[in-house]
Amino acid sequence: MKKIVLIVIIFLTISLMGCAAPDLEPSQAVVFGMDTVMTVTAYGKNSDQAVLLCETEVARLDALFSTTNDMSDVFILNRDGTHTVDDSTTELIEIANDISQKTNGDFDITIYPMVLAYGFTKGTYTVPNDQKVANLLESVGYQKITQDQNTVSLDDGVKIDLGAIAKGYLSDNLIEILKQHDVTSAMMSLGGNVAVLGEKPDGSLWRVGIEDPNNVEKYLAVAELSDSFVVTSGSYRRFFELNGKTYHHIIDPKTGRPADSGLLSVTVVSNNGALADALSTAFFVMGLDDALDAAKNFDGVEVVFVTDQQEIIATKGLEQKLFPVEDSGYSLEFIQ
Ligand code: ADP
Ligand code: MG
Repeated sequence: MKKIVLIVIIFLTISLMGCAAPDLEPSQAVVFGMDTVMTVTAYGKNSDQAVLLCETEVARLDALFSTTNDMSDVFILNRDGTHTVDDSTTELIEIANDISQKTNGDFDITIYPMVLAYGFTKGTYTVPNDQKVANLLESVGYQKITQDQNTVSLDDGVKIDLGAIAKGYLSDNLIEILKQHDVTSAMMSLGGNVAVLGEKPDGSLWRVGIEDPNNVEKYLAVAELSDSFVVTSGSYRRFFELNGKTYHHIIDPKTGRPADSGLLSVTVVSNNGALADALSTAFFVMGLDDALDAAKNFDGVEVVFVTDQQEIIATKGLEQKLFPVEDSGYSLEFIQ
């Protein structure tokens, strides 16, 4: 199955790249990376070359951050407990730990033993009992990571997973590559992470949909934006069911259980991709009230919450930018 997906993607990539012409025709790449399908679309005369470099960057960061590839920085660090890592890995772990501090540990890359315990990596799902959760929580805590320049060390039993921030960090790098090639109009979608550069070639704003958690074919609202990163975390994105109960992949590091905060999704809009990605996960863990408080500590961060009460609650900064889709059945309110 994986092979077929890969072949289709390679075919798409080749055929889409082949059709680029200057200015109005986009250059596009569809690549598989970080466990998801990614598309990058860029306009302008250097966009062909820029998009090719974006593909290389996807592969480079995927090879560093994968938890399963036995050559990756993260794999070796988790296996050996200490490893001298690439500059990008160093930087991303620093960013992650800084956000952990600022979110009171609701975002925490040392959550990995918990993610493994539920079987999210392998797809063979189990629900760990309270004793197991209590034991595993002993090795969760971002303070258990130490960094001395590029040498990272983990306390005994600690394992990291950059899955909640890696795509956001990648999107920062890709936007930077596009800018360096004087691309002024582009958009990318990296599995729940959208980034837009400039405006559309016709000068209008990019339109980014907020998915309906109950039906991903539909949107609840549309954000009209330029130069932004838009990242959604939601309980609907990856989950399994056991004995009539649903278990999703965003875990509260304090309880070791899937976050149960009355939210179906959180979308963060920011000018920083890694921050938007990490905060969408952290805010999902916090729930509406705490997340609204925490959001005040981050400049230029706007949030859209979708609650299990069929409400969309968005921060005031989005008032002129976020528009409801008619007949979605959800109410829309701007607060703070
Ligand atoms: P997605 O990767 O599906 O877009 P997220 O960005 O919210 O969604 O990342 C969720 C992934 O991050 C999980 O699959 C897990 O590997 C990891 N994770 C789960 N809970 C946390 C957490 N509280 N802090 C940091 N990483 C987490
Ligand atoms: Mg995230």
